Amino acid sequence: MVIQVGDVVKMRKPHPCGSDTWTLTRVGADVKMVCSKCGHMVMLDRQVFEKRCKKVISHGETTDG
Ligand SMILES: [Zn+2]
Repeated sequence: MVIQVGDVVKMRKPHPCGSDTWTLTRVGADVKMVCSKCGHMVMLDRQVFEKRCKKVISHGETTDG
């Protein structure tokens, strides 16, 4: 799976806040991501992340948003 910082991903299981999309803030051996809705931050093992991730919704390009 090709992922990079800034990508928005959809997880298999929604966050308790109701959102199932996350923005990646760090990609390496671990993946750090922030919930799109509530801003909750989690860090997962790359392997665990890839198991839980359903798909990449949008790739992080240089945006001013
Ligand atoms: Zn959330």
